[in-house]
Amino acid sequence: MQLTPIFDTGSRSLFIAGPCSAESEEQVLTTAQQLSRTKYVHLFRCGIWKPRSSPNTFEGIGATALPWLQKVQDIYHLPCCIEIATPQHLELALKAGISYFWIGARTSVNPFDVQEIAQAAKGTDIAIMIKNPIAMDTNLWYGNFERFYKVGIQKMAAVYRGGYSEKIQIYRNDPLWLHLIEFKQKHKDIPIIFDPSHIAGQAALIPQLVQKALYLNVDGLMIETHCNPKHALSDKHQQLSVDDYIAMLNNVIFPQQQDINNNSLTQYRMAIDEIDNELIALIGKRIDIVKQIALYKKEKHLPILQIDRWQKVLDDSLQKARQLNIDPRLIENIFQCIHESAIETQQNIVILNKEQHS
Ligand code: PEP
Ligand code: MN
Repeated sequence: MQLTPIFDTGSRSLFIAGPCSAESEEQVLTTAQQLSRTKYVHLFRCGIWKPRSSPNTFEGIGATALPWLQKVQDIYHLPCCIEIATPQHLELALKAGISYFWIGARTSVNPFDVQEIAQAAKGTDIAIMIKNPIAMDTNLWYGNFERFYKVGIQKMAAVYRGGYSEKIQIYRNDPLWLHLIEFKQKHKDIPIIFDPSHIAGQAALIPQLVQKALYLNVDGLMIETHCNPKHALSDKHQQLSVDDYIAMLNNVIFPQQQDINNNSLTQYRMAIDEIDNELIALIGKRIDIVKQIALYKKEKHLPILQIDRWQKVLDDSLQKARQLNIDPRLIENIFQCIHESAIETQQNIVILNKEQHS
């Protein structure tokens, strides 16, 4: 895809800030006025149609807020961006002079909805940001970009907001960092804006998430900021006051791009490459032994899975990991993969008479 930057920031990160939802004209204008005094804002985000889990909560002020956003653009020269979920939303917002939009995490799971919005965007000069689907699926996410690209939209960016996971403990959504890295790797042409607010669920957890994302080289940030977070009508626990927002960005480190391939980094990378080669060779040796065991089991009609043996391998490995101060979750994940593949290799040999991994 040949994309155009959605906003010219020079070489800086793109900063998008503003409230979760527009609530009143005063709240919108006060937040915009406070933000207009910092260098950490290029676009003012402000949801007006809100996708909420329960219909008994505030679901957004709707089109009534469009004139307030026009005022933000006129008075503070801050371009506004809003979430759209239907072609009608797009049409109303375009009439009000809005040209930056995002597709939310609940809409980006549905190709029918995204297709309808893309169709309505045909022939316009809008910039569109697409959040990852709430149930993470990076192919479905990318498909949404293709839909807009096909109708001629070139100003696009991705917004990464983590996703639903059964493992979530401290966060509202799981950061699922590996998916962010995978998307970056596969789609180098699409800039990624990081939304820590909807991952964190709590304001106090945001700075650390922002720092981690900056070190993963994201291209921008979208952060919920409110003139009076305690009284926000939606997502009040995760919204930052404008002062806290500015203080946070003054404190985080923005990694330098120029220095990225310097000498010491190259040396460390050579060492890492060397270790990776050794790891792969060792895994190869392990697979050879697994294959010999498979032939033995086949001959003696022994079961492939012996749960007590597997449990012992895992327990011993976790104990060694703890002794070496290695995160046991890492070792557990690696051993789960190795064991799963060993079982498959043995099934191939014992049941299907296949030597090669398919
Ligand atoms: C939002 O940005 O206000 C929002 C509803 O986010 P998400 O779609 O990521 O839940
Ligand atoms: Mn929100």
